[in-house]
Amino acid sequence: MSLIERDLQVIWHPYTQMQTARPPVPIVRGEGALLFDEDGKAYIDAVSSWWVNIHGHAHPYIARKVAEQLQQLEHVIFAGFTHPAAIELAERLLALLPGNQAKVFYSDNGSTAVEVALKMCLQYWSNAGQPRTKMLALNNAYHGDTFGAMAVSGRSAFTAPFNAMLFEVEFIDLPDADNISSLKSQITNLKHDLACFIYEPLVQGSGGMLMYKAQYLDELLQHCRAEQVFTIADEVFTGFGRTGKRFATDWMSAQPDIMCFSKGLTGGTMALGVTTCTQHIYDAFLSDDRHKTLFHGHSFTANPVACAAALASMDLFLEPDTTQNIERIIRQHDQFRLKIQHHPKLKAVRQTGTILAMEWKTDSQTSYFSNLRDKLYEYFLAEGIILRPLGNVLYILPPYCITDAQLHYIYSKIEQALEIL
Ligand code: PMP
Repeated sequence: MSLIERDLQVIWHPYTQMQTARPPVPIVRGEGALLFDEDGKAYIDAVSSWWVNIHGHAHPYIARKVAEQLQQLEHVIFAGFTHPAAIELAERLLALLPGNQAKVFYSDNGSTAVEVALKMCLQYWSNAGQPRTKMLALNNAYHGDTFGAMAVSGRSAFTAPFNAMLFEVEFIDLPDADNISSLKSQITNLKHDLACFIYEPLVQGSGGMLMYKAQYLDELLQHCRAEQVFTIADEVFTGFGRTGKRFATDWMSAQPDIMCFSKGLTGGTMALGVTTCTQHIYDAFLSDDRHKTLFHGHSFTANPVACAAALASMDLFLEPDTTQNIERIIRQHDQFRLKIQHHPKLKAVRQTGTILAMEWKTDSQTSYFSNLRDKLYEYFLAEGIILRPLGNVLYILPPYCITDAQLHYIYSKIEQALEIL
């Protein structure tokens, strides 16, 4: 039996329509920006395997560090115990973050990093004896697939079967020059009920690579601070270089109260989630009263192997080569964007750092389920490129090790698709 036949018998894949989905591509090996299927066909991973990979696949340095950790300590309960990799990672990560971030809470993926952040805010106010239960989020947001993360995400086809079960959230538009004053008044009016404001800084990934200016977000965050509304920067996607700085937050002067990380944290090697917070928030949980404890812990919290992968990825991330690669990708994207931005088949072309998005014109409503999406996906797969459009939004989000030749191959195939599809 082939790998695909075996797969189809036993696996329920995410994001597939069960009856009509194309069979999955059986990938057996990775190297740099390339993935290889069982017949040896190479695919350029132009979406960094769901945005997680930053240094390339099966990176030898990360592999060595992970192997070393596996021989030392594979896992230990993280309640009442600790280990060197978790401590070192927390120290080194905090040193890269805005100065107000003081404590690291580990979990095991992006959604759980968000759940922890939301719980920190809700329980802060509960511990303070002034419960606040409302949250503020952005329209079209995506913060994960677990219930809390879904609740603060925009309502969509993905949340529809669960909408009745999702807690109350105030959604606002992306801040811009026209609406910033009214958004600020809205926050002032709601402030006594608001536990927090959660946002994806600068780029709303799953919402369709929607991009917005740092300037107005910064102003909104300053206002939240003035009104004592906690802010949560969900950097699960934007963290670790994607927007051209280490973190999207680095484009602003306002420092969030809480930050969430996953994806690129381990270079895309293992699942790990991190929620960081200020000393002020942490202090609200420090008490002799057990009821003030944040009762949240996953079995694999701060898994040592995942922490070792994150430390190795951080070593690579801080190398000058990585910064140069990020700058190189941005320059290449800039040039390609200028070349295609007025193409008649494109409604919009937008770029933030290493993320380049092309919104295609469609007859139907902009939709995740547009037919164009499947056509584009199939076309690029056949050409040996993994580009997985969000509806009619095609985007390139490569690992930083991608070569210029690979980038130019992708650009040329996009130009070809613009002619023939
Ligand atoms: N937040 C953001 C901004 C994301 O883009 C994602 C995943 N795409 C998540 C949270 C959820 O992360 P995970 O898939 O690891 O649960």
